[in-house]
Amino acid sequence: MSARDLRNAVRRARESRARLEEARRRNKELRERCEEMKRPMELQKIRMEEIKKERKELLECPVCRESFNTAEKVPSFLACDDTVCGECVKKIVEVAHGEQIGRNRVTIQCPECREGIEVPYPFNPQAYRRNEDLITFMEETQ
Ligand SMILES: [Zn+2]
Ligand SMILES: [Zn+2]
Repeated sequence: MSARDLRNAVRRARESRARLEEARRRNKELRERCEEMKRPMELQKIRMEEIKKERKELLECPVCRESFNTAEKVPSFLACDDTVCGECVKKIVEVAHGEQIGRNRVTIQCPECREGIEVPYPFNPQAYRRNEDLITFMEETQ
């Protein structure tokens, strides 16, 4: 190998090393940019999950933990302003009546705040105000 050939080989090796360095740097940059773009999307996904979880919690009966609906599980206000699904109110009324036989009114205990509330017997869904705010929220966020 002549001195000139050797110089050329060294130069080519240096150039290819420089190209490799450049490619590596660009790749790293690109990866970093990708990560940056991914981050807001991931945050958004986490936020969406949180919102969904919050919605689910807001829309479930505190007694049976099932979702409210506009049928038998309608969100019903008790006199204390706590909301329980109609099905659970009915069960609570039945249990209270079992212990207080022979009356057309029974005292139930709110499962949330433990307040004693007098309600008509037999259970009548009309006797409980529907939580319209909750129903609206349920329909709007469906
Ligand atoms: Zn319930
Ligand atoms: Zn209550």
